[in-house]
Order: sequence, then C-alpha cells, then structure tokens
Amino acid sequence: MDEENSAPFGFEAAAIDYVLLTHAHLDHCGRFPLLAKRGFRGEIIMTSASRELARLVMLDAAHLQEEDVHFRARRGGHDGGSNDNDKPLYSTLDALNCLDHFGRTAVYDQVFEVSAGVLATFIDAGHILGSASIFLELEEQGHSTSVLFSGDLGNAGRLLLRSPSKPPHAENVVMECTYGDRLHKPLGPSIEEFYGAITETFKRGGNVIIPTFALERAQELLYYLNQGIAQGQLTKSLQVYLDSPMAISATEIFRRHQECFEPATAKLFQEGHDPLSLPGLHFTRQTAESIAINSVPCGAIIMAGSGMCSGGRVRHHLQHNIGREESSIVFVGYAASGTLARRIIDGAKQVSIFGEDILVRARIYTINGFSAHADQAELLAWQKQTSAKRTFLVHGEDNIMRQFAAHLAGTRVEMPGPHQVFEL
Ligand SMILES: [Zn+2]
Repeated sequence: MDEENSAPFGFEAAAIDYVLLTHAHLDHCGRFPLLAKRGFRGEIIMTSASRELARLVMLDAAHLQEEDVHFRARRGGHDGGSNDNDKPLYSTLDALNCLDHFGRTAVYDQVFEVSAGVLATFIDAGHILGSASIFLELEEQGHSTSVLFSGDLGNAGRLLLRSPSKPPHAENVVMECTYGDRLHKPLGPSIEEFYGAITETFKRGGNVIIPTFALERAQELLYYLNQGIAQGQLTKSLQVYLDSPMAISATEIFRRHQECFEPATAKLFQEGHDPLSLPGLHFTRQTAESIAINSVPCGAIIMAGSGMCSGGRVRHHLQHNIGREESSIVFVGYAASGTLARRIIDGAKQVSIFGEDILVRARIYTINGFSAHADQAELLAWQKQTSAKRTFLVHGEDNIMRQFAAHLAGTRVEMPGPHQVFEL
C-alpha cells in the first residue's frame, strides 16, 4: 500500500483544474497534500463539514507519517545515505499548504457551475458528516451527458445522520460496492447488545474498552450512550472517556454542523440539548490525562483509537484491562486480518502488547450492526433509482464487485482498472 500511495498518479497534477471531494475519509482525501506537492494549482470543492474534517484527517495523516519516519530512523540507526523511505509521503507543512486550494463550498442540492459546461450538485450520501454523492451535468461541443459519483453511500435508518438522499437519473454512474455482497444486521438489536455489554461489565466491577475510529463511529457511540441514559437503559453516573485527540476534534466539528443531522437530532440541538454530550463525559486530549485513566479500577467506558488496535492509545487501555475477567473489550467496527483487533475477535488466548504477553481474560464483544456503509440491497436500490445506462463499479474487492455486478440489470457494467480511460 505504501508503494501504491507513492506511485505516480497516472496524470499530470498540474493539468487538473478542479477536484470535487465526496467526503473526508482518509481513503478519499488522503492524497490531496501529495497532489498539491506534485504541482496541482486548481480548486478543491466540498461541503462545509467535509472541509473541516478533511483538514483534520490530512493533518493527522501527515503527523503519523512524520512519526513513522522518526521511528524508523531511530530503529534503523544512522547508516549515512538517505532514500525516499526516510521521508514522509507528505509533511504537516505540505498538508497545510494544500489547504490553500480549498475553494468554494458546496451546499446540498444546490446546482453550481464548476466551469463552463460543467454543472455540479452535491447530494447527501448519508455516510459520514458532510458526505455527498456528486452529480455532474456535462456539455462539450453540443454533446451533453451526465455522471453521478456515489462516493461512499450510507446505511439508511441510522439515528444521528440523515439517510442517503434519493439520487437523480444519470446516464453514467460511478459507484462504490464495499458491501456489495452482504446484508447488514439491523441497528436496533446492536444498540441493545451495546447497552447490555456495558451493564454486565459494570455489574462485574470492570471497565469497558471500545477500540474506535475517531471519525463518525466515536460520535455515533456518544449519541447512543446519550440516548441510553435518556431512555433509562444506562445509568446517569456513567463515566465515559473519549481518549483520542482526533475524535475530540471530530466531535467538536460535528457540533458545528447541525445542518447534516437527522431532523430529530437537529431539533435536540436547537432545543439546547447536545446529544453528543453526557453528564460523565471526559475529553482527554493530553497524554497525562490519558495515563490517569489507568488508575480507574471500574465503571469506566474508554473509547480510544485505533479501531483495529494497530496503534494509538487503546493499546495502553488493553494492556491494563484485557487480562481482567471483570472488564470487557467491545468491538464495533471493521477489523482487517493481521491486526491485533482481529486476533482478539478471533479468540486469541494470549496477546502481546508493548512486549508484554497477557492472557485474554476480559469478555470480548463483537457488535456488527453499526456500519456506515450501504449494504447490497441498499446499493442495488440506489443504482436502480438512477436508471443509469452505464455503471462503473469501484471501491470494492474484486470478487465482491463481480458478485454485485451479477445483480445489476438494464445497465452496461464496467469494472475499471487504475489509469483506464473511458469516453462518455
Ligand atoms: Zn468513507
């Protein structure tokens, strides 16, 4: 992946005039600083919420790469020569410089002219805060056509954000198919399972560790905890630690963008009830505050990154709790194979954390119903509504894309490879 990230784009960065961003996840905006570094001088357009989140995500990615280089340099010693591995793909300074290219802000459902012959409309994709599908109406030398980019599509019926908007008709569709091969578990039972895990753990006198992604999942869990207290399913005295500077910043960005929320949630905000806050919520930005959590023996919910336990503060909390049978580890998201999270989920009896071998005695929960992605049925319904003549499948594993393609009817299906060019 490192090699692919640093590989040539397959086009001249300086030849690009406009970039339209669907949403601020790292796999969508993570190479913006590199684009700018390689000569892009155009305009990057996105929604107002995406603008704030993309800034956070790019700066965090730059910082992690810089740390990685320092770590490798310390471990590898000083053998004289330098090569590309000694440098981050981009630095914090590159990420900051890239912000100069953030131009106009897109507003949901408002058509605007990107440039002559190119009209764009951002449509709520219901995936993360500020996420959009992008509809382009194109005209060139009397020929006109339209392209709809799905971006990542959300899972309908979640409570914090709106469900994806109905897409317009488009001649061409470029769509994701992350979960093109499966149906999700319903949300309601997953929330019940989540509350149950917390209540049982507190009865045993332990802590609940939730390895979580900083963006979106952390805020959704805060919202579910808030609702659990409001509905009397969880105790008011709940002590929750959001132990991730990035998740704390993302939560603050969420609070500033109530235009993205589900109407009932937006109403709560308007009435002065912040559904992302809790009576016992602690934001621990500083390292010293994070270390202090280690002395909490029981009754704490600790949310920290990384979601896959591959790094970050959550490893310290696992070190202190995974060996205690009264504590619980609650997994609420995707865990790739080879990661510590995956090993624990798969039932490892013993794990090694910071060089210490620890027997897994804590109770392990895996709750699968919190996905931010549309499932196969939702993707198919969305595609059908577009009435597209041609459908380009992207953003999915090869075998999943092929399975998904087999379900599509009445459209020409393409599965483009990198650098492939199509005439519309
Ligand atoms: Zn995404």
